[in-house]
Amino acid sequence: MRKKIVAGNWKMNLDLNQGEKLLKELLEKKINQEVTTVIAPPYIHLSSFRELISNSTIKLAAQNCHQQENGAYTGEISIGMLKSVGVEYVIVGHSERREYFLEDSLALSFKVTNLINQGMNPIYCCGETLSQRKDGDHFSVIKKQIEQGLFQLNEMELSQCIIAYEPVWAIGTGETATPEQAQEIHHHIRKTIANQYGEIIANLIPILYGGSVKPNNAKELFSCSDIDGGLIGGAALNASSFSDIINSF
Ligand code: PEP
Repeated sequence: MRKKIVAGNWKMNLDLNQGEKLLKELLEKKINQEVTTVIAPPYIHLSSFRELISNSTIKLAAQNCHQQENGAYTGEISIGMLKSVGVEYVIVGHSERREYFLEDSLALSFKVTNLINQGMNPIYCCGETLSQRKDGDHFSVIKKQIEQGLFQLNEMELSQCIIAYEPVWAIGTGETATPEQAQEIHHHIRKTIANQYGEIIANLIPILYGGSVKPNNAKELFSCSDIDGGLIGGAALNASSFSDIINSF
């Protein structure tokens, strides 16, 4: 059976006090233990959060990393640094990073490879823009993003990855993909992987949906056969809504 995962992407929100308050509220919630719960706060919160979650099942993610091990990359954070503060998952290629920070496929594929080499789990994001969907290009756009970011990996390496399908038009807009639209793309992603690596590997990879997931739509999305959880933005900034989403499984 594939892992069920719900990951909260806090983006550039909440200072340390606010973040600790939210995490403490979340720790008091009863959450479905069959679901791997991951939070991705801003980098500077990670060390202190490591202590706070030490007696819980919540896992830590970073929202990004640099692909090089160390060196003259002012302002960047390496994978080894993240590992040293207890991070196990790293979001790679979020559409905001692709759009605002011009992260290209080559840099993203290096990040994925180097994360795997250090025993970390990449959460590799893909998704089409509204105009790409309107032009009917969404299937080819997603296929290309998957190939460019992940197909340098061997079977063992790929099985450490998590994929997040996040249609750009649904992120932070309140407009969610319908369960049918999401399932169609998740199936397409799994088929793309199966064509390259075979069905067994394709069936192992958790594929998360992201884009305006809320407590009132999570259940329907999570009941789709190829949707294994969610990458949650806005609704992860509230302990009740985030735990309700986790408990929608
Ligand atoms: C995200 O940023 O990954 C995301 C899915 O955001 P939201 O849930 O707010 O649409």
